[in-house]
Amino acid sequence: SFLIILLHDISRLKQLENIRRDFVANVSHEFKTPVTAIKGYAEALLDGAIDDRENAKKFIQIIKNQADRLDALVEDLLTLSRIESGDIKIEKQKILLESLVDSVFEIFKDRAEKKGLILEKEIPSETFIYADKNRFTQIMVNLIDNAIKFTEKGLVKVRFFKENDKEILSVEDTGIGIPKDYLHRIGERFYRVDRARSRQLGGTGLGLAIVKHLVLAHGWQFKIDSEVDKGTEVKIIIHKKF
Ligand code: ADP
Repeated sequence: SFLIILLHDISRLKQLENIRRDFVANVSHEFKTPVTAIKGYAEALLDGAIDDRENAKKFIQIIKNQADRLDALVEDLLTLSRIESGDIKIEKQKILLESLVDSVFEIFKDRAEKKGLILEKEIPSETFIYADKNRFTQIMVNLIDNAIKFTEKGLVKVRFFKENDKEILSVEDTGIGIPKDYLHRIGERFYRVDRARSRQLGGTGLGLAIVKHLVLAHGWQFKIDSEVDKGTEVKIIIHKKF
């Protein structure tokens, strides 16, 4: 009846309001941490720490790192808000998958090498994908960034394969994995298994939320399989429309 529908709408509105309130609280908290650190170290420098050259350098490096964090946070928040307000248009073009993956690997080559990780790809030659080039690059960058961040040894592999009538693009790693209890909420804004660790690794907690939005905006689907201490595989399920 009308009343039931109305009550249902009201409870949905309340739910949305709660989500919004949580989000604002989260954002404030995420900003507060680096700002507090920047203020603290700047004050220590002003109070005399600047006279000890070695120490001063350390403090300034911390200030720089925290400013970088703030920068990344603002960047990710802007991207998310643009996507959510429908400001981002997906303009698909035909892309040679292998060369796009190569260009993304190029960005991460040094970081992977430093950790002793192998970047691998398993993509049939002449595999084309219909995607928005910039957005698709961002998806791959965020996924490979995570795979490298959360993997201490082994490899990070990009695979393209067919399963039933679906095309699947996956980013797989041999890293720490995600505990089962967390898996269903991964991809929510600011949801992280280990907040302190994520921050320490320079994460904003928004990378996967952005990936999820961009994947859906392409008309694709998103799935994560993971096992603790074995690794994680993020799958993008592409329905063939062309
Ligand atoms: P973050 O900035 O923390 O990386 P993301 O949104 O990219 O934020 O990821 C959210 C959380 O999901 C991470 O903090 C981590 O707990 C988990 N996660 C994402 N990718 C991986 C992965 N490849 N292996 C293990 N855990 C992952």
